[in-house]
Amino acid sequence: MNRRVTGGRLVIASHNPGKVREIGELLAPFGVEAISSSALDLPEPEETGTTFAANAELKARAAATAAGLPALADDSGLAVDALGGDPGIYSARWAGPGKNFALAMAKVHAAMGEAADRTARFVCALALAWPDGHCETFEGTVEGAIVWPPQGARGFGYDPIFRPQGHAVTFGEMDPAAKHAISHRAAAFRLLVAACFTPKD
Ligand code: IMP
Repeated sequence: MNRRVTGGRLVIASHNPGKVREIGELLAPFGVEAISSSALDLPEPEETGTTFAANAELKARAAATAAGLPALADDSGLAVDALGGDPGIYSARWAGPGKNFALAMAKVHAAMGEAADRTARFVCALALAWPDGHCETFEGTVEGAIVWPPQGARGFGYDPIFRPQGHAVTFGEMDPAAKHAISHRAAAFRLLVAACFTPKD
């Protein structure tokens, strides 16, 4: 049996205002008031986990314990099969301190070389932790293939080199609503909401 959030305040364990706003909007229909960890001045723990789920859990647990409130955290990235799952949990780090994703995409391309297997997936782990240590974790994925050169200027991060399965264009070329309907983040959110939130009437 999953533990549910029944309204009240929920910490979004992220210092990214865009992410906090987006998650806040998604959870508003459930009577939840989203507060960012920056607003509460919570420290950002080091991401020492070796999986997306472990990193999401450690961020959610740290925020829940520090705030004394339930806390939600996410961790996401691109896993390329020919690279043994890299850049994976290091997806943001491959872009360097300047967050240069043209560079990160070029690194993926160079590392793959002529590898016959072009398959990859975006993964999003969401963890919801309570101050007593209880934690629920959900993972969403979207399967696809790496293409070169990068195509499209919509989206962000690795979107221009990722073509989702069953589609002729990359995430970088897709209408944002079309991407959101099939994305790893949307898939993880559907699982989280079904398990842990109840619409308010
Ligand atoms: P984080 O989960 O905010 O640490 O993000 C990890 C990194 O994964 C981001 O900086 C992006 O590089 C990459 N990433 C995660 N989701 C997406 C996506 O939907 N499109 C493109 N890149 C993504």
